[in-house]
Amino acid sequence: MTAQIALGLLLTAVTAFLAKKYKALSSSGIAAAVLLALVLIATSWEGFVLMFLFFSSSSAFTRIGYRKKKERGASEREGGRSLSQVLCSGGVPAVVSGLCYTVNGLREAAALAVASTIAFSNADTWASELGSLSSVEPRLITNLRRKVPHGVSGGVTLLGELGAVMGSAFIAVPASLLLALARNYGWSWASVRIDPFSFGALVLLLGWGGEILDSVLGAVAQIKYLCPKCGAFSDKSIHVCGSKTRAVLGLPFIKNETVNLMSEAALALLATVISLHL
Ligand SMILES: [Zn+2]
Repeated sequence: MTAQIALGLLLTAVTAFLAKKYKALSSSGIAAAVLLALVLIATSWEGFVLMFLFFSSSSAFTRIGYRKKKERGASEREGGRSLSQVLCSGGVPAVVSGLCYTVNGLREAAALAVASTIAFSNADTWASELGSLSSVEPRLITNLRRKVPHGVSGGVTLLGELGAVMGSAFIAVPASLLLALARNYGWSWASVRIDPFSFGALVLLLGWGGEILDSVLGAVAQIKYLCPKCGAFSDKSIHVCGSKTRAVLGLPFIKNETVNLMSEAALALLATVISLHL
């Protein structure tokens, strides 16, 4: 296990340095990400590897076509993802892994919950980063006849949904391999009863399903603003044109991060229940 811990610490240090250099995360975001990485290294090496794949691939996708996304008001902030974004997308897998580590019988269930919540975060990020480059105007997932501008939560495009499936698979395939390796090398997932193929298939479905739930919650519950000047919907209180927008839909305290956190918590619970019944 020592080799995995050493490699995990090295990868965390290098990634934190690169995240700072390329402004993928704010300073407090980096501190939180390092803390989450340490929890995963200590409790589930496999979960750490998946989190590393999520973070590096999603940061790369954020940079693709950044200028186009910025023009559309669908880009991430230039200072990098914030502390609350890090905690809301990586907090659930780390907390589940940390809590279940000490409880006999839940350690196995944690494997599916950790892998699927990371697959969900990856699917969600790939979907929005790829979808916002689509030349087609997004449609609201709860009312496909209604078009919404890029970057508005609940808006879906074919390219974005393709991104979601690929993003979930990008975590599910390695998760399946890690489970097979864990059995050979006695890692923390060694006692998981599901076979590696079914495990990967479940992770893929749960990650993608979570992303659909997230879009629906984003469309129904998340606060949305209307720009009085352009007459366009936006997720932000100041529109890309510079005008102050007014809230017209959704609940005021529910932001994008809140929706992510709710979807992830629901997914973690569902994955744990499925694991305990398999
Ligand atoms: Zn405007």
